[in-house]
Formats: sequence, C-alpha cells, structure tokens
Amino acid sequence: MRKNVVAGNWKMNTTLQEGVALAKEVNEALCGVTPKCDVVICTPFTHLASVNAVIDTNKLGLGAENCADHKSGAYTGEVSAPMVASTGATYVILGHSERRQYYGETSEILKEKVALALENNLTPIFCIGEVLAEREDGSYNEVVKKQIEEALFHLSAEEFGKIILAYEPVWAIGTGKTATPEQAEDMHAHIRNLIAERYGKEVADNTSILYGGSCKPSNAKELFAKPDIDGGLIGGAALDAASFMGIVTAF
Ligand code: 13P
Repeated sequence: MRKNVVAGNWKMNTTLQEGVALAKEVNEALCGVTPKCDVVICTPFTHLASVNAVIDTNKLGLGAENCADHKSGAYTGEVSAPMVASTGATYVILGHSERRQYYGETSEILKEKVALALENNLTPIFCIGEVLAEREDGSYNEVVKKQIEEALFHLSAEEFGKIILAYEPVWAIGTGKTATPEQAEDMHAHIRNLIAERYGKEVADNTSILYGGSCKPSNAKELFAKPDIDGGLIGGAALDAASFMGIVTAF
C-alpha cells in the first residue's frame, strides 16, 4: 500500500549554518517519536552534503528542490541529478509552480528532469496544480490532467511507481489560503482516477499524492484524514522545527 509522506520544501531560505541547525533540530525531534509517515526535508543545493552529514537518513529523508535537465556539460550554474545524488540526497522536487512560473519550466523540460532523476535513483516529488484563474473558471481538473499527461504518462508503470505526486494549488501557496479538505480531496481523487485509467488500479492505489499550500499544524489533521491525501509538501511551516513536527505528527 502507498506510503504517507510529509516533505519540507525550504525554498530559497536559510544560510548553510541556519539550515544545518534546522535539520539537526528536526532530526533530534524525530528521535523521540515513531511517525506514521516518511519524513523528508528538501533543502537548497548548497546545504545538501552538510545536512546529510548531520541527519539519520533512516529517519529523515533528504532531497533537493530541483535538478538540471542535462546530465553534465557546459550549463553554467546548473546542478545535475548525479551531483544531487552524490551528496546523499535521495529525493528531488520537480515541477514546482515557482519553477514553472519564474524559470519557464515546461512539460518537455520536466520530462528530461524526471528521466535523469530516476536514472540517478532520486525519487521525484512531482508538483502539479492550477492557478487562481483556472480554479475560478472551472478548468482546474483539465489543467492538472494535462500537466500529468504531458510530463509523466510516457513512463512505464514501473517508472511511474517511483514517483510521488504533490498537488499544490498555486493560489494556496504562501497565501495562508488553504484549499478546503473537500477541494483537495476532490482533486486527489481525480488524480488517482487518471492514474488508474492509465496504469491500472494497483499502481493508482500505490501512488502517494501529497497536498501542498499553506499546510500547517492546525489544518494538517483534517487534510490528512481524507482518503486520497497521503501527506503534505510543506513550505513556510517547514522552516520551523516545531511547526514541521506538528504536521508530521498529524497522522
Ligand atoms: P507554503 O506551505 O508556504 O504555502 O508552500 C507550499 C509549497 O509551495 C511547498 O512546495
């Protein structure tokens, strides 16, 4: 059966020293509990190797927030999937709406990134979600369908089985405005149906689908109680160990 996962996305926050301190705090907090979910932190590239050295990766998974769409070569400033893997990280967030919006990431580019992540044994946490105008004009189910079809549905069932999905309605990210548990559940069920149509019920039932967008200790329990919501991708609240743990223990 699918796993519950709570993953932090630190985005472009914390210096190396602050990040290592935060990772240590989360790691220590996890020593006293047996969470009912896998716990992951996704940090800036600069932090990965140092964070890996201070956490127990059996209890706390480590991931990057992006990787390049090429393996190596003359791509100044880029960080490749093999480089990420060489730090000890085993996850990578791909297709976050901020990457799509500010850095022009298209489904074509994301296909390459997914392939390289899988080749390097990184578990992609693949983000999808509609913007406010698409929520309001009612096209959100179609928008998310297209994002998944274009970037992921060429994969074999075995490859697809390695992906974690994260539904993040863009209007709920960093806005304090959470999707209602019903809105989120409707979308998660829609996504699971799409997977079942493409790969069959077993693959669909085994796919973890996380919710992201202003998830906090105060609303996590209600969201995670929904049958198709298998955890969260956490932005702001992941920058505070106590808040992050409040979400981890909401299962
Ligand atoms: P917030 O939790 O800050 O809304 O961010 C969500 C997000 O974008 C996680 O990837």
